[in-house]
Amino acid sequence: MNAPVNSGGNSGMRGLRGGKQRYSILSLARNALSHHENWQRAWRSPEPKPAYDVVIVGAGGHGLATAYYLASRHGIRNIAVIDKGWLGGGNTGRNTTIIRSNYLWDESAAIYEHSMKLWEGLSQELNFNTMFSQRGVLTLAHSEHERREMTRRVEAIRLNGIDSDVLNPAQIKQIVPIIDTDPRLRYPVMGGFIQRRGGTARHDAVAWGYARAADDMGVDIIQNCAVTGFLIDNGVVKGVETEKGAIRAGKVACVVAGHAGVVADMAGFRLPITSRPLQALVSEPIKPILDVVIMSNAVHMYVSQSDKGEMVLGAGADSYNGYTQRGSLTVPEGMLAAAVELFPVFSRLQMLRSWGGIVDTCPDASPVISKTPVSNLYFNCGWGTGGFKATPGSGHVFADLIARDAPNKIAVPFTLDRFSGGYLIDEHGAAGVAH
Ligand SMILES: Cc1cc2nc3c(=O)[nH]c(=O)nc-3n(C[C@H](O)[C@H](O)[C@H](O)COP(=O)(O)OP(=O)(O)OC[C@H]3O[C@@H](n4cnc5c(N)ncnc54)[C@H](O)[C@@H]3O)c2cc1C
Repeated sequence: MNAPVNSGGNSGMRGLRGGKQRYSILSLARNALSHHENWQRAWRSPEPKPAYDVVIVGAGGHGLATAYYLASRHGIRNIAVIDKGWLGGGNTGRNTTIIRSNYLWDESAAIYEHSMKLWEGLSQELNFNTMFSQRGVLTLAHSEHERREMTRRVEAIRLNGIDSDVLNPAQIKQIVPIIDTDPRLRYPVMGGFIQRRGGTARHDAVAWGYARAADDMGVDIIQNCAVTGFLIDNGVVKGVETEKGAIRAGKVACVVAGHAGVVADMAGFRLPITSRPLQALVSEPIKPILDVVIMSNAVHMYVSQSDKGEMVLGAGADSYNGYTQRGSLTVPEGMLAAAVELFPVFSRLQMLRSWGGIVDTCPDASPVISKTPVSNLYFNCGWGTGGFKATPGSGHVFADLIARDAPNKIAVPFTLDRFSGGYLIDEHGAAGVAH
């Protein structure tokens, strides 16, 4: 896919970079009258060169962000980003776009908050409107145990300097008038907590923004070209085999989300990853009724209203491994039944479509940003159900690892060694619901 340069409302601004936004009235007027003809492409579609300094496998948000930060922060521009499909067509274009940094452990707080800070300046940095909206993320408690656990979690989150507030049912009702707070419900609202800096962003725009900015710095984005193997000589990676032939590379970085296990297998090692389908649904557009993101671990539901007015609802992951971008019907069925109890108005919504993505989950629900048993081959994966929010931070620290062959201090806890050394970062509580 080659998005026109005007995508995201940045008409005629190709070439303007470096954090300065300049809106040209003339170019806006020209594009308004152009009948959408003769728009420049936002990125090229080059044939692969025989060799690159760095090959990145996977043109999702994380892979594209990695290329962007390698080029912009480290001056490494002889890069190819290769994808078996179209850029942003994996989980990046399939997720429910929730962004927050309210994780329990210090290690997670550091990386997700690093990401949050980058989100806060991303549209300006990329000169591309990512539609980042800090509308707040509110997580519900439905039992006394959950309520107490949340109170403890909020204290831990605040100790890391991250905003978080406990709410009682009356405060929740004030923020979300459409929620049913009747205590006799199957999932009674007993409290919750909110991160007001949390919110959403437009997923495609994030991929397009990074792609355009990386392409501008000379990065080749090669779509519809699956990586089928690795060139490895004496334990050192020398390049990749692809559907378009072999491409040599000084370094290879894999960011292939749900396919991480399959791609690692091509390089001859195993990752502690399971891949499972995770589903979401979207309704017809309706008038604004919800201006905050709601998450519920017990119901396994997360919902927000898009700028178009659609209700975007996320369901859970299937309980078995799989590589289909669809899941079992029972999962959204169960979630919707509970969601309608909490939000009776949803019973009148027509759902337009549902879809799935393949999420890669580690045993401790934390990601991997690491060197591998093969020299100069790096993996970034295991973001599971919650890696969209990490896109800028993940790309930023992964670029550091690739450029310096040593992890950024934020990424040190996320190396593969933790599974043999026993330094797991158990985020099942904070990542308990897909988001
Ligand atoms: C339904 C759903 C809802 C979600 N909701 C949220 C949310 O609200 N908030 C949140 O933070 N996270 C959420 N996530 C998780 C989030 O989407 C992912 O963690 C994140 O998008 C991963 O980004 P990525 O760039 O690593 O992966 P992807 O976007 O999946 O990119 C990986 C790319 O690798 C390519 N690839 C794979 N194999 C090969 C190969 N052999 N050769 C070449 N290319 C290859 C794929 O085609 C793909 O484009 C959700 C996920 C799903 C499925």
